[in-house]
Amino acid sequence: MTTSSDFTFADMRKIKRKTLGDVVPLELFRSIRLIGMYQGLPLHGKGTTGVIGKQIGQSLPVNSVDELLNLFKELKIGIPAIVRQDAERMHIAIHDCFCEGLPVSEGKFVCDLEGAIFEGALTKILHKTVTVREIKCNVNGDEHCEYEIRGLS
Ligand SMILES: [Zn+2]
Repeated sequence: MTTSSDFTFADMRKIKRKTLGDVVPLELFRSIRLIGMYQGLPLHGKGTTGVIGKQIGQSLPVNSVDELLNLFKELKIGIPAIVRQDAERMHIAIHDCFCEGLPVSEGKFVCDLEGAIFEGALTKILHKTVTVREIKCNVNGDEHCEYEIRGLS
């Protein structure tokens, strides 16, 4: 599905603008994610966020779970920590998630795209199809955001 003229993650790091630099405010990222995608797409963007997230995840220059967790923090999506792991599944909690501080609305889970990024990256790293589900979210009123990753064995 990718061709030689496609953008790569390495391309994304080629930043030359002189005045405004290499960061954009969190409210812009949130606006794209929540006003644009969550509210603007049918079914809160489910399906679309899965495709987008997996594409991004597969493009990340990471070769291990550790490298992936470090990059997640470096990109300031959140600070991931493995909170539970056995042969078949793993739970990753996200502290300081991009959604932290938004109004609580029970039943809303808004960090599915970021879970799909994990899914794409882990599928590439582990050479097997894993599935990632968002089981906790700050916006739902949980103490942090958390993903359940299945299919490890
Ligand atoms: Zn979140």
